[in-house]
Amino acid sequence: MAHVNLVTGGAGFIGSHLCEALLNRGEEVLCLDNFFTGRKANIAHLLGNPNFEIVRHDVVNPIVIETDRIFNFACPASPVHYQHNPVKTIKTNVMGALNMLGVAKRVGARILQASTSEVYGDPAVHPQVEGYWGNVNPVGPRSCYDEGKRVAESLFFDYHNQNKVDIRVIRIFNTYGPRMLVNDGRVVSNFVVQALNNAPLGIYGAGDQTRSFCYVSDLVEGILRMMDLDGFHGPVNLGNPGEFTIKQLADLVIELTGSRSKIEYHPLPENDPVRRRPDISLARERLNWNPAVSLREGLTRTIAYFDELLRKG
Ligand code: NAD
Ligand code: UDP
Repeated sequence: MAHVNLVTGGAGFIGSHLCEALLNRGEEVLCLDNFFTGRKANIAHLLGNPNFEIVRHDVVNPIVIETDRIFNFACPASPVHYQHNPVKTIKTNVMGALNMLGVAKRVGARILQASTSEVYGDPAVHPQVEGYWGNVNPVGPRSCYDEGKRVAESLFFDYHNQNKVDIRVIRIFNTYGPRMLVNDGRVVSNFVVQALNNAPLGIYGAGDQTRSFCYVSDLVEGILRMMDLDGFHGPVNLGNPGEFTIKQLADLVIELTGSRSKIEYHPLPENDPVRRRPDISLARERLNWNPAVSLREGLTRTIAYFDELLRKG
């Protein structure tokens, strides 16, 4: 069956790749976005496709719309952007989830929530398994995002248990690739843009904190498998279990760009998680999913994207 998919946050980094993958399957896509961190340029190449439509809308407001699959991705993901207006971030997460769950309930749609590794906070369990409840500061600078996403997970499971809404919850670990914003603020895009400009790479803290970086095409494959599978609601971790220090990432970006950049050290932001790596046993078992793109390969593709973008000015 060719589904009618509603992708909230569809003009953003991950959302635009998801819209493209759904169109490539011959499905219809309603791309809903308020263009806070999304860009028309991310989806401009999809506009000629008769199965593609843009809906300019803010998920904090209710909407009446016909769809049979909802991917709820609307929310700024970079700490710089989600901390810019924390109250709005909470509204986007909580009221956005309520409004989209309301649509799903009304029209009987299956709905997938883009949750995050941030629900584990600064994790005391490593690697992170889905059964771990997390270590989140409820009043810190990251809490608008972390707690917002945690409430959204609660809402998803409550709508499922109370109203039989057919939910899917994925917990996404640091994902990167083409179409991140030049000024996105996240580490991969920052380092790549700095290296291509031969500017200093700014490491926050000593650079020994770790992250696990997943290339966007691997993530999209996992998202689609989760949405397609009947009878499994999650939550399920989706990420690449390869774990790197931020210093290792900086060195690799300098090597792959051939940059003359040096490294500069800046203060570590408050509550910055010390280490992060997904245990993806559940995704392997239930979705038969495994990321295929190495960090070196994914960075090479990402560098090529930013190189072209910066050359165009
Ligand atoms: P992004 O900032 O590129 O995309 C977010 C999109 O949502 C943008 O297009 C933005 O304009 C839109 N948006 C924001 N607030 C909105 C609102 N109130 N109404 C309508 N649209 C709104 O970020 P991304 O990396 O593509 O992340 C997409 C989703 O995946 C987010 O929900 C994020 O929390 C989640 N996620 C991403 C990562 C990652 O590493 N990229 C990790 C964990 C979770
Ligand atoms: N970071 C950094 N320099 C940057 C941006 C981020 O050293 O220019 C660090 C940041 O402190 C964190 C890690 O890189 O330890 C990942 O940061 P990002 O904002 O990409 O994602 P998150 O912290 O949400 O995982």
